[in-house]
Amino acid sequence: MTSLLSDIDLLAQPRTDWTREQAGDIYRAPFNDLMFAAQSVHRKGHSANHVQTSQLLSIKTGGCAEDCGYCNQSAHFDTGLEASKLMPLDDVMSAARKAKDGGATRFCMGAAWRELKPRDEEKICDMITGVKSLGMETCVTLGMLSDGQAERLRSAGLDYYNHNLDTAPEDYGRVISTRTYQDRLDTLARVRGAGIHVCTGGI
Ligand code: SF4
Repeated sequence: MTSLLSDIDLLAQPRTDWTREQAGDIYRAPFNDLMFAAQSVHRKGHSANHVQTSQLLSIKTGGCAEDCGYCNQSAHFDTGLEASKLMPLDDVMSAARKAKDGGATRFCMGAAWRELKPRDEEKICDMITGVKSLGMETCVTLGMLSDGQAERLRSAGLDYYNHNLDTAPEDYGRVISTRTYQDRLDTLARVRGAGIHVCTGGI
């Protein structure tokens, strides 16, 4: 095992100063070494066999104005996917109840669009409040947010906002041309500023 993967205390610390060499060591490490290190880090902060369960619902599918190169919901690509409108509240609530009955503790609602438009805000807030009233944690992924929107989502009962960074800034234009890496950081700053947990990663 590389010495990096043996240093569990170091791996367990949040950090943003990884070198390319260290990232390369992890990338090339044998899978079982990675699994062992990941479990060791996990057990430092969480009970060994507890799994947090989330269920995801696409509340508005396809026809997205963005051109993320990995996504079949983009209107820029001919993927055969049929676009649909925003789901009605009742349908979302019945899906959330079903998720809860199935053991999910967090319900995530995702909309395929570029940003949350003011005309949809109230409908989305009603969904968040409704799901929260079931005793579940709430999560949404709604693209870019402008000033004030994150606060309104938080007031409606939002716990988590998913917003992925997609790829490194220097490669961003090769994957997506309709927004910038900085746009992503700006939305994440608004989410954090409103006290909402951030759910983010590469993709
Ligand atoms: S913003 Fe989301 S839904 Fe739209 S193309 Fe990108 S990944 Fe797909």
